[in-house]
Amino acid sequence: MDIVVRPKILVVGAGFAGVGCVRRLERKLGSDEADLALVTPFSYQLYLPLLPQVASGVLTPQSIAVSLRRSRKYRTRIIPGGAIGVDLKAKVCVVRKITGEIVNERYDHIVLAPGSVTRTFDIPGLTDHARGMKTLAEAAYLRDHVISQLDLADASQDEAERAARLQFVVVGGGYAGTETAACLRRLTQNAVKRYPRLDPKLIKWHLIDIAPKLMPELGDKLGQSAQEILRKRGIDISLGVSIAKAGPDEVTFTDGRVVPTHTLIWTAGVAASPLMATLGAETVKGRLAVSSEMSLPGHPGVFALGDAAAVPDEAKDTEGAICPPTAQHAMRQGKHVADNVIASLRGQPMTPYVHKDLGLVVDLGGLDAVSKPLGVELRGLPAQVVARGYHWSALRTNVAKVRVATNWALNAVAGHDFVGTGLLSRSSAKLRDFEHTNAYLTPEQIRERTENG
Ligand SMILES: Cc1cc2nc3c(=O)[nH]c(=O)nc-3n(C[C@H](O)[C@H](O)[C@H](O)COP(=O)(O)OP(=O)(O)OC[C@H]3O[C@@H](n4cnc5c(N)ncnc54)[C@H](O)[C@@H]3O)c2cc1C
Repeated sequence: MDIVVRPKILVVGAGFAGVGCVRRLERKLGSDEADLALVTPFSYQLYLPLLPQVASGVLTPQSIAVSLRRSRKYRTRIIPGGAIGVDLKAKVCVVRKITGEIVNERYDHIVLAPGSVTRTFDIPGLTDHARGMKTLAEAAYLRDHVISQLDLADASQDEAERAARLQFVVVGGGYAGTETAACLRRLTQNAVKRYPRLDPKLIKWHLIDIAPKLMPELGDKLGQSAQEILRKRGIDISLGVSIAKAGPDEVTFTDGRVVPTHTLIWTAGVAASPLMATLGAETVKGRLAVSSEMSLPGHPGVFALGDAAAVPDEAKDTEGAICPPTAQHAMRQGKHVADNVIASLRGQPMTPYVHKDLGLVVDLGGLDAVSKPLGVELRGLPAQVVARGYHWSALRTNVAKVRVATNWALNAVAGHDFVGTGLLSRSSAKLRDFEHTNAYLTPEQIRERTENG
């Protein structure tokens, strides 16, 4: 009896790019054409742009964790774990399962979409004292932490401690930092009404960025509008400023100011997943250098995309331009790379990825937003309708759409709730606790494993 061996396609990462790719492969590829496997530490796709709303309690965590197992049509084998190295020569991906067991996954085609990690710098105390905003757990911990600061300030008899507990610092004026500061400031503004012993004037939010502008991609006028909304809400914005050092109860800015605080939120950019460095191939600022077909030159069957890859931006005239790390690109690249994987399986020509940016939406909470769909500048309610409409329609399943819409409606009617879930009682939940950047193998360790296994 002949045993038919089907080619194996291994996708790494279940984010916008990875899930976009897997779903298209499942739809377009016959089950007898290839076996599909997906390496992911979680069985959900996280809708990251709505993470600040989880941190502020507007949305529940499960509303933006879109299940990978909702439909019986899905036939991909999900491997629960993280890829820790890839041997391009042996065509093996080394995976650490969630149990800690390390296994070798062989592939014929591999699609690398592990996204990015929070970019940190060599700033004293940063990874020990700052909190990130990149995972569902970080958002949930952050919400608990902020509420607990109000509780602790309320209970304290010490003026200095009260003041420190009620100051919050967000570093990073991109959409992640700006939305986080805006949404959490709204939470504390509303919550403080339930703490009659606390003076609302003591609550201070700082948003700082080393760049001269917040979200430069918004353009001057819209960027200015966003700043005005934030300033009106009482957020102190400092541009051209970063952090010189961070401690458990104070942060020193590069302009010399020392801010007593127990809350430092770090959203100052992202860096490609450290997995890309294990390939020993060319990178551009850490992102794997791929062709506009998203394939790795010299290695047929190897593809990379999303935040982890430097995909040439063919829609721009500028030489050497690469696609920015956005959900908008990752989602579309996911579908496109699936078409190219199928083309390469069937011996057909692959096509380059070309997508012209559709604009940006920034939800500042409540009725405040700024949006720039197709270059049209919107503010206030129209901008918010576009922002929420865009995110809502981009959610992958109907159940996620219903959860998010219901949460928004509930928040509009009943307001914020201020109950902490007790996540903080034992864990520190700082940057170093979530970014497992030391989990990856060196090229030598990978070779050792693939040669012996
Ligand atoms: C707070 C926040 C707000 C944002 N807002 C916007 C916005 O409004 N608009 C916009 O366009 N973009 C926004 N972005 C950026 C956008 O979310 C990213 O560009 C997008 O998620 C990139 O998609 P991706 O598939 O490459 O990576 P991700 O979506 O990050 O997915 C990567 C996946 O790979 C998994 N993974 C990581 N390492 C491994 C490994 N070693 N092995 C296996 N799996 C692994 C991760 O768990 C994750 O599931 C925001 C980002 C953040 C953090």
